Amino acid sequence: MATRAEGGARGEGQRSEGVPSRPRPVERLIRALARLPGIGPKTSERLAYHLLRGTEEDAEELAEAIRRARASTRVCSTCFNLDEDDPCRICADPERDPGRILVVEDPRDVVAFESSGYRGRYHVLQGRLSALEGIRPEDLTIVQLLTRARADGITEICLATNADLEGEGTAEILADKLRALGPRVTRLARGLPAGSTITQVSSAILADALDGRRDLG
Ligand SMILES: [Zn+2]
Repeated sequence: MATRAEGGARGEGQRSEGVPSRPRPVERLIRALARLPGIGPKTSERLAYHLLRGTEEDAEELAEAIRRARASTRVCSTCFNLDEDDPCRICADPERDPGRILVVEDPRDVVAFESSGYRGRYHVLQGRLSALEGIRPEDLTIVQLLTRARADGITEICLATNADLEGEGTAEILADKLRALGPRVTRLARGLPAGSTITQVSSAILADALDGRRDLG
């Protein structure tokens, strides 16, 4: 068996595989960061060491911001948006058109549409249907949307899911379920770049997509 003298410091073959060479609390931090969306093992390692190198105050500030944000936000029991209050400020606002519901995937989409000047209400699905990820209708707030759609005074439900494959598929399935219930069912204009998500496009494009929404029926 060949051995390389210059590689000796790494100690390969000296320890069994899978035994962490870092302190256990650091391993735990890296694993916790790696569970965040879009964070791979390399990035989580980089973030963890960045946090450990920084000041105690910076680390505490981050931990406290996470704790506070979690403790002071709740999900609106009507529209499933995230806010400090339930019902959320949007559902509770008497100046808004209560007959219009914009159906979005995520609370971040609400923020995006708010800057486009939209003045109706929302329904947050909390995701989109995905066969690949095993996300089924019962994992989303679809039953609650259908209940809202049946209520008196609802005039229009606009499907504003993302313009990617899963967003389009989710909109089609929702349109099938909503069509018979009474309100007008619309979809954002095709002006949204194919494959794009709501949070990627500008408020001007969102305003245009809302203006040019089309009937699904
Ligand atoms: Zn709400």
